[in-house]
Amino acid sequence: MKIGILPVGQPVNASVIGRIQESLKMIFPKTTCIILDKTLPIPEEAFNKARQQYNSTIILNRIHGCTEEQEALDRILGITNVDLFVPNLNFVFGEAECPGKAALISLKRLKPEFYGKTANIDLLVERGTKEAVHEIGHTLGLTHCPNPFCVMHFSNSIFDTDTKQSLFCNRCYLKIEKAVNNLR
Ligand code: ZN
Ligand code: ZN
Repeated sequence: MKIGILPVGQPVNASVIGRIQESLKMIFPKTTCIILDKTLPIPEEAFNKARQQYNSTIILNRIHGCTEEQEALDRILGITNVDLFVPNLNFVFGEAECPGKAALISLKRLKPEFYGKTANIDLLVERGTKEAVHEIGHTLGLTHCPNPFCVMHFSNSIFDTDTKQSLFCNRCYLKIEKAVNNLR
C-alpha cells in the first residue's frame, strides 16, 4: 500500500508528521509512506462560526479530490491542527471514507496542552499514530472493534485513545492483510 500524508491548513509540526510516517510503514503490511510536498488549504466553507470548529466531511471531500490527482497513491491521510466536528458529534479526532482512499485526522485534541497538561511530543506522536492507523483502517473497510485495546476501537475521548494500542487485534489484522493484498 502506498500512503501519502497531506498537511492540511496552518503548518503542522514536521517532526510529528515524520514520526507518524515511520510508524505507518511499520504497522501496515507491505506499505510505503511519503509526505506530500504541498499543503491543502482549509476550505473556508468548512469553518462553522457558531461552533468555532471545522466540518470534517467538507475537508475530507477535498482530500478525496487530491486522491484523484495522485493516482500512484492508494491512500491519502490529511493531518491538520484545527478542531474538527461532524454535525451530530461535539468533535471528532478524525474521519475517513469507509471504504475509500481519503482519511483525515486532527492533532488539536491529541495535544496534552488541550487538557491543561504539559506539552509532550512523544505522547502526541503516539496518539497521532493511533488515530492515523484507525482512520486508514476505515479506508480499508474495517469498522469499529469491540476490543478496547485494538486500534479500531472507537475513541469517544482521549482516555479511549490512551487505552488502545497503535496495533490491530488479530482479527482486525487479518482483515487488514487481506484488504492490502487486494489493492492491486
Ligand atoms: Zn472510527
Ligand atoms: Zn480489532
